[in-house]
Amino acid sequence: MVVVCWSVRAAGAPGLPELVRKPYLELVAMAASLDVPKKAIDDYRKQLEQQKKEDIDGLEAEKKSLKSQEDDAHRQLDELNRSASVDDKDMAGKRTSLHCKLWQADRDLRETKTERSISIPVEYDHKLTKLEIVAQWPAKKREVDAAVAGGKGRARKWGDVDDIGFRKVGEGQENDIKLGEEAINELRAYRLLPPESDSKALHEYVQVLGDRVAASSDLKVPLRVQVLDTAEINAFGLPGGRLLVTVGLIVRSASEAELAGVLTHEIAHIAARHGEKLSRPTGSVSRMLLQGVTMAADAFTGGALGTARNAARDVLGLGVHLNLNLLGVNRETEAEAGQLSTQYLWHAGYDPRGFMLFYDKMAGEEDHRVTSSFFRTHPPSVDRAMVSLAELEYLPKKARLRTDSVRFRNMHAVAEAWLKTHKRAESVAPAECGTGN
Ligand SMILES: [Zn+2]
Repeated sequence: MVVVCWSVRAAGAPGLPELVRKPYLELVAMAASLDVPKKAIDDYRKQLEQQKKEDIDGLEAEKKSLKSQEDDAHRQLDELNRSASVDDKDMAGKRTSLHCKLWQADRDLRETKTERSISIPVEYDHKLTKLEIVAQWPAKKREVDAAVAGGKGRARKWGDVDDIGFRKVGEGQENDIKLGEEAINELRAYRLLPPESDSKALHEYVQVLGDRVAASSDLKVPLRVQVLDTAEINAFGLPGGRLLVTVGLIVRSASEAELAGVLTHEIAHIAARHGEKLSRPTGSVSRMLLQGVTMAADAFTGGALGTARNAARDVLGLGVHLNLNLLGVNRETEAEAGQLSTQYLWHAGYDPRGFMLFYDKMAGEEDHRVTSSFFRTHPPSVDRAMVSLAELEYLPKKARLRTDSVRFRNMHAVAEAWLKTHKRAESVAPAECGTGN
């Protein structure tokens, strides 16, 4: 192995800013041979944390300014209302222009809040995670190689990969079916669930693919797939075997292995009963969903629950309404789902890098509005990255891996055709404000 000594780094060898922009899989392929001094890592970490703080402060200032613009418009409306009982032509014109100003400020405020609460933290968290990979991967790789060579490859947690389907992952899954059903019913009752796709072929395909990978997993309950007509890119696993998949996700998947990767990730959450474990202290599904709605209203419409319907049309869509506890998402469970899903993909004969390939693509997307829903429910973390990437090293190599299929190509085309006629939901400007741009 060629070890690149940091101090005498050859001209053209990547520096840390370049390394943290590389896709995870590419970075890990080269990280084992890097030898970056601890001080360089520590200094760059501090720099990134400082930049993150500055960016967030900047967005806070922007939020303040937008809020004061709104206050100002409201003051002017008050003045209009006090000055006469009925508008004359000038007043009516002024009122319309103030309404448009308010509409625009509200839209900008929501975008700024999404940037502040998700996009910018996520962007820096990816960089900080990749910096930790540079720091920790050489030792991790040595540890994995030594364990495998020493006959201890299966001694890691959930290392019993030849017993998938027969091991004690998430015992009692059948007890979660009611919780998942309740969640779906409540989402419908609150009108938060996008409509189901009316393409039978698409639904059948995702159900068959889900069943195929589920058969190679530790899932013990029947999987019930719903394909949702939304451009949002995401999939949600609810307790008891409910799996919601968006048309946007199918379009964004470049291969069947990538789509299967995201499905196995959700199946892993369901199998390991992460949603049930994390939502147990909260109690009722209604309470959890209401928290989600209130949070969405607060984060994206300035605090008024009455405008939650607008938030439902927001770029985050379903991703913001679902309570992360119900989805079983926290740092620890994400790492476990990362490991288990890599194993399930491998066991099903797919390229086990499927999820990471998709994740890398999302992390590299420059338009944050497209990825904020996905990263709200799949937040980056060092544990997730290290465990998933190490699992790829532990798993015995298979000669022939499934990556794609004709069926996937056909269904991808169906999903793409739907998306072409249904652009991403944007809040529509009131007619009198034109396009609002
Ligand atoms: Zn997850």
